[in-house]
Amino acid sequence: MMGDIMCIFCKIANKEIPAKIIYGDEDTMAFLDVNPRSKGHTLVIPKKHYETFDELPEETAINLIKTIKKVVNILKSLNPDGYNILNNNKPIAGQEIPHVHFHIIPRYNNEKEAI
Ligand code: 5GP
Ligand code: ZN
Repeated sequence: MMGDIMCIFCKIANKEIPAKIIYGDEDTMAFLDVNPRSKGHTLVIPKKHYETFDELPEETAINLIKTIKKVVNILKSLNPDGYNILNNNKPIAGQEIPHVHFHIIPRYNNEKEAI
């Protein structure tokens, strides 16, 4: 799989560095955030390197949304009271890792006990 050789999410996609992977298919994967905002905080990425959402081919964008849906279903086992789906594009918008990703953040009524 080609990608940015310095990119940490490409390395996770290529299994060159470890991550707690909760779902994977040909085009996409989902793994737990190393610094979770809540229990089950998951990142969904395309395996191929793109920086921002607008760069994604349409098919990849559709596959990402399908994976997000699967992850939301998987995370139901944690019984969240709600969840956020977030996507930051470029540093001004809060993007720290320049490999497009969606955050799925389960939310709990008592968030202090959530992690
Ligand atoms: P951003 O601010 O780019 O939208 O979010 C990047 C997210 O990636 C952050 O929530 C951060 O905790 C997570 N992250 C950064 N490095 C790693 C890593 O090496 N492994 C995992 N699993 N998550 C990471
Ligand atoms: Zn990458």
